Amino acid sequence: MDTYDLIVIGAGTTGAYLAREMAKRGRSVLAVEKLPKTKVGTKYDIFHIEKKEFDRLDIPRPVQGDKAWAFEFEKNYNADPLTKYPKCQINPIVGLHMHEYTLLLNEQAEQAGAKLLYSCEFLDFLYDDAGKICGAKVKYRGREKKIAAKIVADCSGMAAVGRTRLPDGYGVDNRPLTDEDMFYVILKYVTLKRPEDYLEGSTFWAYYKAWIAPCADPHGAIIGLGACHSYEYAAQVMEEMEKTVPLPEYDLVRVEKGRTPYTRSPYSMVADGFIVCGDAGNFTKSVNGEGVTSSMVQIQAAADTLDAALRYNKANREFLWSINRAYNTTQGAEFAMLRALLTGVVNAANFDEFQYAFESGIISDELLNAMNGASVTPQTLLTALSGFLSGMANKKIRMSTVKAAGTALKNAAAIFNHYQRFPYSEQGFDEWQEKADALYEKIGKIK
Ligand SMILES: Cc1cc2nc3c(=O)[nH]c(=O)nc-3n(C[C@H](O)[C@H](O)[C@H](O)COP(=O)(O)OP(=O)(O)OC[C@H]3O[C@@H](n4cnc5c(N)ncnc54)[C@H](O)[C@@H]3O)c2cc1C
Repeated sequence: MDTYDLIVIGAGTTGAYLAREMAKRGRSVLAVEKLPKTKVGTKYDIFHIEKKEFDRLDIPRPVQGDKAWAFEFEKNYNADPLTKYPKCQINPIVGLHMHEYTLLLNEQAEQAGAKLLYSCEFLDFLYDDAGKICGAKVKYRGREKKIAAKIVADCSGMAAVGRTRLPDGYGVDNRPLTDEDMFYVILKYVTLKRPEDYLEGSTFWAYYKAWIAPCADPHGAIIGLGACHSYEYAAQVMEEMEKTVPLPEYDLVRVEKGRTPYTRSPYSMVADGFIVCGDAGNFTKSVNGEGVTSSMVQIQAAADTLDAALRYNKANREFLWSINRAYNTTQGAEFAMLRALLTGVVNAANFDEFQYAFESGIISDELLNAMNGASVTPQTLLTALSGFLSGMANKKIRMSTVKAAGTALKNAAAIFNHYQRFPYSEQGFDEWQEKADALYEKIGKIK
C-alpha cells in the first residue's frame, strides 16, 4: 500500500496551501482532487485578496498580464442604503481568476514536493485496529485504492466529505451545514452603460449584504448579494436592493451563484489522525464570508504542530490539541466576536436606523477599519455603543435597537473572552464547550 505522512482531500486553495506548507517542511504529502485539472477552481470566476496578504501568507502575487490577474483597486466604500454618506477606506485589493490562481497554488505545492492526483475522489477513511484513522480509500481511474497516512486533512470545501464522515464522538463536529449556516451568493456580471459610472473601487451596503465591485472588464462590474436560507430568498432581497440603492445603469452579461459557510468553525478541528481546514470547517470571515486567506491563516496556526506530530509519530488528538488553542485564541476569537456583534446589530436595526448610523458617524472609519483588519478591540465597540446612545437621545434610534446593540456588544465581549480561555488540553474542554454553546445560543444566527 502507498504510504504518506499526510493525505489532503481536495486541491482548492486551502488544500493546495496545506500541501505546500507540509511538503516545504519535508513531509510526504498526497493531495487527492476529485475534479480534473481543467475544472479545479471553476466554482466561480473572480475572487479578491487584500494586497497585504500576499507577503504575510507567502503566496504568489499575480500582476497585470498574468493569467490569474483580473484587476486591482484600492477604494473600498461602505454605504448607507440610499448611498448618501459613503465611507471610504483605502485598502489595496487584487481581483483574481479562481481557476488560474488555484492552479498556481497547486504548482507551488508540487514544486515543494507534494504529489497531486486530479480526478481522484476520496471515498472514506481507513481505520486501524484501535479505530483510529490511518489512511483513506479513494477512487482513481475507475478503481478503488487504499492509501495509508498518519494524518488525513479534510480540505474538501463546503461538502466537508471527510468531516461529515467521521464517526459520532470521534472528536470533531461531524454535522453538515444547514441552509441557515451559509450564505447563498448571487453575482451579476454586468457592463455599465455610461463611462462616468465606470468603477474606481467597490461599494458595500451592509443593510442588504450587497456590493458592487470591479470585474475583469474595466467597463463592467459585479453586483453581488449574499443571504441565508436559499437562492430564491437572495434573489428577492436583490430585487428589493435594486429598487432602493442608486446603482449605475447596466446591461446584464451573466449570473453566477455560489455558497459560502457563514457559521462558526468547529471548537476542535483535530482528532486522531485528522484535521479539518478551509470551507470544510467554516473558517470564513464573519464580516463577509470570504475564506481563501482566513483558511490559510488557520493553516499557519496548524502547520508546525502538524509537522512535529508527523515527524515524531504523534498524530493523535492530544498532541494536535495545541492547534485548537493556537487558532481559537487568535483569529477564532476575533471572528467569534465580530459574528456576535454583526448578528445582533444587523438583526435589530431597520432601514432608517442604518441611514442614521451612516449620517451621524456612528459607523465610523475606525469601526470599519477594525472590522476589516485583525485588531478589533472591545474599546472600539464601546465607542460605537456611545454613538448609539446619542442616537437614542435624539429619537433617531429605537430603544429596542439600542438594547439589542448593547446585548450584541456584551455577547461579543463574552465570546471573545471565552475563546481567549480555550483550554490548553482536552481537560476542561467539555465545560468550555458547554459554555460556548450557551453563548452562541444567546448570539443567535443572522436573519
Ligand atoms: C460567490 C463567492 C465569492 C467569494 N469571494 C471570495 C473572495 O473574494 N475572497 C475570499 O477570500 N473568499 C471568497 N469566497 C469564499 C471562498 O471561495 C472560499 O472560502 C474558498 O474558495 C474555500 O476554499 P477551499 O479550498 O476550502 O474549498 P473549495 O474551493 O471548495 O475546494 C475544495 C476542493 O475539494 C474538492 N473535493 C470535494 N470533494 C472531494 C472528494 N470527495 N475527493 C476529492 N476532492 C474533493 C473539490 O472538488 C474542490 O476542488 C467567495 C465565495 C463565493 C461563493
